[in-house]
Amino acid sequence: MFENLTDKFERAFKVLKGQGQITEINVAETLKEVRRALLDADVNFKTAKEFTNTVKEKALGRDVLTAVSPGQLMVKICHEELVELMGGNEVDINIKGNPGIILMSGLQGSGKTTFTGKLGNYLKTKKHKNVLLAACDVYRPAAIDQLHVLGEQLGIEVFSNKEEKNPVLIAQAAVQHAKSKGFNVVIIDTAGRLAVDEHMMDEIAAVKKAINPTETLFVVDSMTGQDAVNTAKAFNDRIDFDGVVLTKLDGDTRGGAALSIKSVVNKPIKFVGTGEKMDALDVFYPSRMADRILG
Ligand code: GDP
Repeated sequence: MFENLTDKFERAFKVLKGQGQITEINVAETLKEVRRALLDADVNFKTAKEFTNTVKEKALGRDVLTAVSPGQLMVKICHEELVELMGGNEVDINIKGNPGIILMSGLQGSGKTTFTGKLGNYLKTKKHKNVLLAACDVYRPAAIDQLHVLGEQLGIEVFSNKEEKNPVLIAQAAVQHAKSKGFNVVIIDTAGRLAVDEHMMDEIAAVKKAINPTETLFVVDSMTGQDAVNTAKAFNDRIDFDGVVLTKLDGDTRGGAALSIKSVVNKPIKFVGTGEKMDALDVFYPSRMADRILG
């Protein structure tokens, strides 16, 4: 993951190799490469510019205070700033409640249903919760079947009602079912569309209002770069979600979505999807991600 970005950062730091000290000139040259790396990764222009400005200030302000080489200093500062850019500390999901209610949102094909299964599995096996999954995509019976297949594979109950065409009523019934049967957490999978559209937004907003979730997650395909960021903004403006799930990181060589989403929508990335299997879920740690990016 993020191989291209890692290579380009490495190339940028080479500028400082063998240099005795940090100077305006070698910092400017390095940061030109860093900025190019970020732009090639599909990080938006403003974010890339702010990033390099901050690194520059820190690098030039710190030279006399440190014994490390210019190259090491630059790696250290870039690491700190990458962590900041991705949100600083990790942020947990909120599953408190009787039951905790997690609402999933996102476009069709983003990996939402797959992630619903993964999250159920994670909460069941790692957090020892009694989890219910609920299928609320009333347009695609195949999506309901897909969730049932996952539930069966994971040993997790799936709530659905193919006769009912109102997702709000299905979601409410699912929460009711979870309450009466003593489930700790219910995860509500909703319908996506191929692109942002008003009807989908109205529907997810109505579901959210009706069930008042403890956590609303927005799922997006990491490989779509700036589109992922724009879609996140559209969803957040409408439903004010709590966190982002970045899927398909295993196929993302560039990393632009991971680096830009937090600064654009001001919501943390909470999980990443790293494969099609049910255990291919990672909690998102900005610092570990920065480690990976800088190789
Ligand atoms: P939905 O329409 O948003 O519910 O999307 P699905 O959950 O059906 O996923 C769409 C496709 O993406 C499926 O083929 C999944 O196997 C695949 N997929 C989902 N998450 C990941 C991931 O983290 N990595 C990879 N490589 N594939 C994924």
